[in-house]
Amino acid sequence: MTKDQLLTRRRALLAGAVALGAAGTAGALTLGSGDAPAPAPVPAAGAQAGRPLKPSAYRLQPLTGYGAPRTRAAPLTVRHEPFLRMSGRGRTMVLTFDDGPDPRYTPHILDTLAEHNVRAMFFVCGEMAVQHKELLARMSDEGHVVGNHTWTHPLLTQMNRGQIRSEMERTSDVIEGAYGERPQWFRAPYGAWNRAAFQLGAEMGMEPMAWTVDTLDWTTPGTRSIVGRVEDGAAPGVVVLSHDAGGDRSQSVRAIRSYLPELLDSGYRLTVPPRRFA
Ligand SMILES: [Zn+2]
Repeated sequence: MTKDQLLTRRRALLAGAVALGAAGTAGALTLGSGDAPAPAPVPAAGAQAGRPLKPSAYRLQPLTGYGAPRTRAAPLTVRHEPFLRMSGRGRTMVLTFDDGPDPRYTPHILDTLAEHNVRAMFFVCGEMAVQHKELLARMSDEGHVVGNHTWTHPLLTQMNRGQIRSEMERTSDVIEGAYGERPQWFRAPYGAWNRAAFQLGAEMGMEPMAWTVDTLDWTTPGTRSIVGRVEDGAAPGVVVLSHDAGGDRSQSVRAIRSYLPELLDSGYRLTVPPRRFA
């Protein structure tokens, strides 16, 4: 039995919390929708001026004020819950892949995303990333968003603040080196958040992101089952959780080859959050 399976009950409890959170506006953030799904350029001052979008359409909703655009130096608000979904105009969804990169699976997922010109999020573990920096470079080249999923995938709720800081900081460091910039998103292993994780994430410039739909691909339920969970869960704003490492992920690799074109045929646009600072 894997450590993930031991935490099934925790996942179930958190899923209940997700349902509660999703009932209100909390836990959602706004996605851009009018921009082309191309790799985001390096932000430059004033770069947004030429965009025909309202500010609220492409900036994170909680950060959408009337002041100057946020810079990396500005501290983030410390949240009490992670984002669970995204909201934007139209049928937008976000695909996320955790625990990698793994050279046995990640390249196949990247190939499928590239074939359909789709961007996704990869919440990587530092101990994997440091061994496969070329995959982070590829993610950068192809416009994907890399988030921080700690160094060793521990249960943060059993660690002290210094240990949590080390897990997060080292991972951001290796991401910066291989991907080209520090991550703006953090996801707690097992979805087990605590106050230190929110505080440290904010301090390090990362927003917390959970998910809406868990494909349960880590239980290797069969490719059809994974595809079914994605398609049954498909709805505007949904964030899908899958894995590209942590075990045999060949089912996850096969599943995306099936559900991705089907989602696109159904009119969904798969996208990633916009860069927060501009
Ligand atoms: Zn994980």
